Amino acid sequence: MSVTDFFVPRSLDEALSLLAERGSDLLVMGGGTVMMRMVNDGLLFPRQAMSLRRAGLDGVRSANNRVEIGATTSIARLSQLDAVPLLAQAARLFGGPAIRHMATVGGNLFVPQPAGDMAVPLLALDAEVELASVKKRRRARLDAFLAGQSARADDELLTAIHVPVAAGRSAYLRMGRREANTPSIVAVAVRVLTAKDGTCTEARIALGAARLYAMRASQAEAALVGRRLDASSIDEAAQMAMGECDPFTDALASAWYRRKMVGVHVRRALEQVVN
Ligand SMILES: Cc1cc2nc3c(=O)[nH]c(=O)nc-3n(C[C@H](O)[C@H](O)[C@H](O)COP(=O)(O)OP(=O)(O)OC[C@H]3O[C@@H](n4cnc5c(N)ncnc54)[C@H](O)[C@@H]3O)c2cc1C
Repeated sequence: MSVTDFFVPRSLDEALSLLAERGSDLLVMGGGTVMMRMVNDGLLFPRQAMSLRRAGLDGVRSANNRVEIGATTSIARLSQLDAVPLLAQAARLFGGPAIRHMATVGGNLFVPQPAGDMAVPLLALDAEVELASVKKRRRARLDAFLAGQSARADDELLTAIHVPVAAGRSAYLRMGRREANTPSIVAVAVRVLTAKDGTCTEARIALGAARLYAMRASQAEAALVGRRLDASSIDEAAQMAMGECDPFTDALASAWYRRKMVGVHVRRALEQVVN
C-alpha cells in the first residue's frame, strides 16, 4: 500500500484543517468500503489518506420534525431508524450485514450508480445535505448535489444529511441479480400523500440505477397529483417514469432492461402504498 500519511482526526475542525492544508491529494474515507477496495486492487495509489470514522460525524438526532443524520452514520444504524421508515427499509436491503456496519451514508452519496442506493429514499424524502469547509458551512438540496449543480468543493466535507419527518405512505423496492451484496439493476422509492377523498396531493418517485445519478421522476409525480391512485393513474406514472429515465448498460443489465424494470417497479411500489 502506498499511503505514507494516514490521519484519523478526532473532530470535524481537525478534519477540515487537514483537508485545507493537504488539498485534494488527501484521500477522504468514510467507511472505506469503496476506497480501500480500490487501493487493495491497485486502482488507486494515495500518498495520504484520512478516515472520518473518529471525527464525531456519526449519529442521528431528531428535533422539530427533522432528523439530522451524521455523514459517517453506518447503514446498519439507519436500518434501525424507526422515525424514517422509508430509509430504514432501504438500509435493510443494502449489501450484507458486514457491509452495512462499515459503509457510511455520507460515503454512499459519492459512489457512482448503480451503487449509491441510499440517495433513492433520501430523494423521495426531500433530504438536504450539509457541507463544511474551514471557511463556511452550507446546505444544498440533495437532487442538486447529486446532479452536480451544487457539488462538493475540494476543500469541503459532507457533514450531515437533513431529512424532514415526512407524512404519507411510502415504499422502497430494489432489484438485483441476487438477494444481497449485489448492485442494483433498479431501485425505486415512492412517497405519496392523499386527501380524505383519496386524491393524491403530493407524490415523490425516486429512481436509482436509472441514470448516471439517482433522480426524481418529476413527470411521473405530476401524473399522480390531483388524481386518485388507481390502475389508470399508476400505469400512467409508470410509463412516464420509463420515459424520463436515462438508463445505462453495464455487466448487470442493459439500458433497455433497466428502463422496463423502472416501469415494473414504479408500478409495484405505487400498488404497495395503495394496498
Ligand atoms: C460487498 C459489497 C456490497 C455492497 N452493497 C452495496 C449496496 O447494496 N448498495 C450500495 O449503494 N452500495 C453498496 N456497496 C458499495 C459501498 O459499500 C457503499 O456505497 C458505501 O455506502 C460507501 O460508503 P463508504 O463510507 O464505505 O465510502 P468510502 O469508500 O469511504 O468513500 C466513498 C467516496 O466518498 C467520499 N467520501 C466519503 N465520506 C465523505 C464525506 N463525509 N465527505 C466527503 N467525501 C466523502 C470518499 O472520498 C470517496 O470518494 C457495496 C460494497 C461492497 C464491497
